[in-house]
Amino acid sequence: MPACCNWNDVFQYETNKVTRIQSMNYGTIKWVCHMIVFSYVSFALMSDKLYQRKEPVISSVHTKVKGIAEVKEIVENGVKSARSIFDTADYTFPLQGNSFFVMTNFLKTEGQEQGLCPEYPTRRTLCSSDRGCRKGWMDPQSKGVQTGRCAAYKGNQKTCEVSAWCPIEAAQEAPRPALLNSAENFTVLIKNNIDFPGHNYTTRNILPGLNITCTFHKTHNPLCPIFRLGDLFRETGDNFSDVAIQGGIMGIEIYWDCNLDRWFHHCRPKYSFRRLDDKSTNESLYPGYNFRYAKYYRENNVEKRTLIKVFGIRFDILVFGTGGKFDIIQLVVYVGSTLSYFGLATVFIDFLINTYSSNCCRSHVYPCCKCCEPCAANEYYYRKKCESVMESKPTLKYVSFVDESNIWMVDQQLLGKSLQDVKGQEVPRPLMDFTGLSRLPPSLHDPQAVPEEPDEMQLLTAEASPRPTNSPDWCQCGSCLPSQLPQSRRPMEELCCRRKPGACITTSEPFRRLVLSRRVLQFLLLYQEPLLELDAESANSRLRHCAYRCYTTWRFGSQDLADFAILPSCCRWRIRREFPRSKGQYSGFKSPY
Ligand code: GDP
Ligand code: ZN
Ligand code: ZN
Repeated sequence: MPACCNWNDVFQYETNKVTRIQSMNYGTIKWVCHMIVFSYVSFALMSDKLYQRKEPVISSVHTKVKGIAEVKEIVENGVKSARSIFDTADYTFPLQGNSFFVMTNFLKTEGQEQGLCPEYPTRRTLCSSDRGCRKGWMDPQSKGVQTGRCAAYKGNQKTCEVSAWCPIEAAQEAPRPALLNSAENFTVLIKNNIDFPGHNYTTRNILPGLNITCTFHKTHNPLCPIFRLGDLFRETGDNFSDVAIQGGIMGIEIYWDCNLDRWFHHCRPKYSFRRLDDKSTNESLYPGYNFRYAKYYRENNVEKRTLIKVFGIRFDILVFGTGGKFDIIQLVVYVGSTLSYFGLATVFIDFLINTYSSNCCRSHVYPCCKCCEPCAANEYYYRKKCESVMESKPTLKYVSFVDESNIWMVDQQLLGKSLQDVKGQEVPRPLMDFTGLSRLPPSLHDPQAVPEEPDEMQLLTAEASPRPTNSPDWCQCGSCLPSQLPQSRRPMEELCCRRKPGACITTSEPFRRLVLSRRVLQFLLLYQEPLLELDAESANSRLRHCAYRCYTTWRFGSQDLADFAILPSCCRWRIRREFPRSKGQYSGFKSPY
């Protein structure tokens, strides 16, 4: 678009010009492509509900664990044992966030009080004398501050004495099987309220009519909010008894995919389970899930505590999902974004035309057919839709020989070599356009009206005339003359009408009738400027230039090539002989750029 200089430039509209190809094959391909795109777009629209505005869920969770376990406690070195009952208050601990914890195993150290006592014997705490201990030393792994003495622990085992809660907790393995193995049968009720504030919609997972004696089952009872702990582990392929020993972390996912449209309303949760801790961790990498807590009490006015190392399962409840409702803006945005896919048919068909047109066969880009039928059709379509424009360079020239069917494109500086000897790039000759011929004056159609010099009237098919001795050595037709131009520009005019020896094009009938006929040229000049008055001075010059153009458009077909076409020396001099310049030198070819 030109730069805006006035209001007329503003009030204009530019549109693309298109080429319509009447073809059964391409028409079918177009409709098939459109149908595929349309089906895909509609399918995606409906299956992903892309016409809806979606909003993430916000939620609150509340849980209640129920169940009783009978625990056989080993009180001291496996000698005495006692049975006790654990209820909810004993085995659940308050946790923050959407989590709850169920104890499955524990280690108890009873009757601890502040004092001095030897460390539990390990490789790092064993000693043989006081020199093996350091007063005031605090090992992060140990339970107290060393006093610097080496004291007897049991028998002849000696360890460093520490100031700590005594007796020191024994470094023991978690009991096997887990003490609360029966926690497998505990149940948890999960209450989950959700809200989509943007859609002003609230709901919960426990609906009024729900039977609260149910137990969740993936297929038989997928909406029941009461879960048996053992079942959760079975869903993830784990064994509850194994996990119960060291503890672990289990995720309970509640997924809400809500369709809030009135006609397809659906908003129910989907429960799924996932083991969140790393079950492959070995002993040395602290497997499972455990922590310590203490129960404090006073005995004889001395503060005492019972230290419990608790192993258990933390359940994390993860609520996520979206709620979608029809929104006209979303629909328009989606439709708009898919429109470009309908251009796929054009890209695909253009690709076929470009690939299988014989233009590409000629350029050997693709090893395609030997110009079979589709190629011929494609080449026709390609020519109709594609207009190529050469890069405008001062060195660009086109050359045509009467004994060769193609045109040559030369795009280089000649540097002393005559144009006749330069190898260029072959380009196909544009198809002849005969429409203009019918507009020519009667002289062309009437052989009697052809001008003089009957001796030169012969057909080009005649035998090659012997080469006159004065023609330059690059000439093959015998009619060329040396160039008059300065030395540097001379190679440009060193061009013959033929590649191989033979008859000159200037002796042909069309050359005479088209290029040399004064009446034809005068008519063409008047055709261009109807009231042109040709005085003697300018007449020859204009006729000569017109003759050059007649020759180039005749031999090169299209105006694009003709502008850069170089006349063979024989033609140039034949025209100049017919319409000579009175004084001075001829200036020769000037590049249009
Ligand atoms: P002048 O008329 O005395 O200046 O010299 P010429 O008879 O050589 O004509 C010069 C004009 O003809 C310029 O406009 C040139 O571009 C054009 N002309 C001369 N030679 C060629 C040629 O080989 N090919 C083309 N396309 N145009 C030419
Ligand atoms: Zn020649
Ligand atoms: Zn010639």
